[in-house]
Amino acid sequence: MIIAIDGPAGAGKSTVARLLAKRLGFRYLDTGAMYRALTWLALERGVSLDDADALAGLARAHDVTVDGDSVEIAGHEIGAAIRTVEIDRVVSSVARHDQVREILRERQRTLAAEGDAVMEGRDIGMVVCPDADVKIFLTADPEERARRRTDERPGLGADALATDLRLRDRRDAKQLEAAPDAERIDTTHLGIEDVVGRIEALAAARAAEAKP
Ligand code: C5P
Repeated sequence: MIIAIDGPAGAGKSTVARLLAKRLGFRYLDTGAMYRALTWLALERGVSLDDADALAGLARAHDVTVDGDSVEIAGHEIGAAIRTVEIDRVVSSVARHDQVREILRERQRTLAAEGDAVMEGRDIGMVVCPDADVKIFLTADPEERARRRTDERPGLGADALATDLRLRDRRDAKQLEAAPDAERIDTTHLGIEDVVGRIEALAAARAAEAKP
């Protein structure tokens, strides 16, 4: 079973997807980490974030492995290095190139083909796995999303984080479309347990439907 969880930054995707995967004994696939890792490598190698061909070349040459909090590319362990304000601010510039997206999407589909997984991203339900068994689109009010980010990005105030999130939403707009058959969940006033419980119920219903 594939469970796709899409939505903007700060809507609670990672927290929910991780816990859900643990409960169900599924793999957790964080597709944002792949775009972040490629961005990190491009900056490290001095590759222009406008150069789609060079970025696609990097993506083709280097697989990204994501295992829990550990993320590896080209022999570097960068699990912490990719979760910074610097990467937040430029990752959409890498993700906007179709050539890059095609390479990463193919890898994501290969991972999905291994079965049972909770996949988190922006375009999973619409493009990467349009046949996903359960599709969720998480949202939250902008103020709440910025507040959540202040815990993850200490050092930057809520106002600056809110501005960054607004800009990133705008840059990610093309990928940030909910699939028509996605269940929308507004997490603004919900706890993690409530959200995970709802998705578990949807997954259980889907599994029951699929039984002969
Ligand atoms: O989810 P996360 O904030 O880690 O994603 C980082 C960035 O990667 C997003 O802002 C977006 O530009 C890109 N992304 C994407 N498609 C995905 C996952 C992430 O374009 N499936």
